[in-house]
Amino acid sequence: MSIEVTNITKVYKDQKALNDISFKVNDAEIVGFLGPNGAGKSTMMKILTTYIEASEGSAKVNGFNVSSDKKNVQSSVGYLPEHNPLYTDLYVKEYLNFNANVYGTSKSRINEVIELTGLTPEAHKKISQLSKGYRQRVGLANALLHNPDVLILDEPTTGLDPNQLVDIRNLIKNIGKEKTVFLSTH
Ligand code: ADP
Ligand code: MG
Repeated sequence: MSIEVTNITKVYKDQKALNDISFKVNDAEIVGFLGPNGAGKSTMMKILTTYIEASEGSAKVNGFNVSSDKKNVQSSVGYLPEHNPLYTDLYVKEYLNFNANVYGTSKSRINEVIELTGLTPEAHKKISQLSKGYRQRVGLANALLHNPDVLILDEPTTGLDPNQLVDIRNLIKNIGKEKTVFLSTH
């Protein structure tokens, strides 16, 4: 089981964002997490990636508990946050190189993820010069750098034009042949 959520509740001060949620995602599945704005999708993803703690309940990612085994969860998970925060003044390779240094991944992996995400024709550009679709590819490439088993993608296709939407969906389908993908959308 790649993701196992058991009776998760999250309360921010007086705002209940998640109310007793349970679900499972099997290995190498692509699963959509659907709900309108404010439904709690990002909150759940932040819990699964160890950014925040649940108020009640428990969750496991790749068999590791998100509150007691954070390091192993973090090595198992590639995360594309909502609004894809990028350093737009950096060149694509420079950005991936910076993050590869942070993660301690090999330099050869940078070219692999560039190829895997179809970034090759744009890889020499500054991130600020890229279209939204290519910026999403940079976010995906970044999430794949440490070769995680599970990808957690928060609204990866929101704001894309119809062509880019199809391209990114196909890319995610391709990645999902080998990895578990958990993605949100409204
Ligand atoms: P979604 O991603 O589905 O749009 P969110 O998880 O972002 O939903 O938000 C769920 C609810 O929790 C919303 O009502 C939102 O305003 C609230 N919320 C999210 N983050 C915080 C926070 N840090 N502090 C207080 N309330 C929050
Ligand atoms: Mg959200």
